[in-house]
Amino acid sequence: MKIHPVLAVAVMLTAVALGDGNVPPAGFTPLFNGKDLAGWWGTGGGNPKKFLSLTAEKQAEERAKALADIQKHWSVANGELINDGEGLYLTTEQEYGDFELFVEYKTVPLADSGIYLRGLPQVQIWDSTDKSKFELGADKGSGGLWNNSAGAPGKDPLVKADRPFGEWNKLHIIMVGEIRDFETSEISIRAAMTGHLVFSTLHTNDAVSGITRLLDMGIEPFLLASVVRCFLAQRLVRKICPDCITEAAYDADYLRENEFIVPPGTKLFRGKGCDSCRQTGYRGRFAIFEVCIVTEELRRKIIRKETGSALKNQAMADGMESLRTDGWRRVLKGQTTVEEVVRVTQADEAIAETG
Ligand SMILES: [Zn+2]
Repeated sequence: MKIHPVLAVAVMLTAVALGDGNVPPAGFTPLFNGKDLAGWWGTGGGNPKKFLSLTAEKQAEERAKALADIQKHWSVANGELINDGEGLYLTTEQEYGDFELFVEYKTVPLADSGIYLRGLPQVQIWDSTDKSKFELGADKGSGGLWNNSAGAPGKDPLVKADRPFGEWNKLHIIMVGEIRDFETSEISIRAAMTGHLVFSTLHTNDAVSGITRLLDMGIEPFLLASVVRCFLAQRLVRKICPDCITEAAYDADYLRENEFIVPPGTKLFRGKGCDSCRQTGYRGRFAIFEVCIVTEELRRKIIRKETGSALKNQAMADGMESLRTDGWRRVLKGQTTVEEVVRVTQADEAIAETG
């Protein structure tokens, strides 16, 4: 892929792969054919969900308009894709999920561009010598994640690797939104092994199940143990309405059944229901968490492929608190109700008992 971004031009792509001479490495798909703009159209860089919410007829109309604009500002010469610094962002027709992307590009003075990944996260590409944008971080070079807030991981590139104007730069981008099979888990593990900080999501019932889920997908235990640092499970709970919060009496048996130990003299609360919470007693939500840090002991147990419950016991011994424990803490603070914590953590308890 040879992209030539100039000024305010970005490429909204969701998967590209290329090596030297437009021949991608084995297993990769070239997104640019080296000859024309087949497989591409254009957008203004807004939220792609808006476009997708249009009727099919309206979408076709927008696409036709976009293609006319793309033809004006993007061209192909000597196997390179060139933009004149104006017009819409070049966008792949096909949508991609998780991917590994190789991009090669050249810039010119005052370049300010980027690559939108699957819609919104933007990898910034710009003129790293443009003093007027040093305050925005241009002095740190290209490759940072523009949408991240200042100081957040990924906002700035770790190294300044921009090459002089007119020379080819290379970007290697890995996008893993959700690990759901061996392929995506392998991409993530490989990225972590080569020094990348990888964040991803898994669908499991609790934090420790993240370990067993990855092992079930076929990841080697020693690889998993060596690269994974932490699993965090979260659940949303409803917050007691501040306008109608009132002290609540709970049945002692109900609390005992749910293993909720209430220190003597502690008050518990509920929302009575009022107009501002539409009589539900709740307004807003917040998350409760369970954090499993992969300690040395846990690492050894992962390598020995011990059972899920052995792993969980080790994590608890090393200081992990369950989702429910975090929930009880929030109940004692008067932020949510006992029944709400029971509701969102019920599935986990049932699984823990049966499995
Ligand atoms: Zn209320």
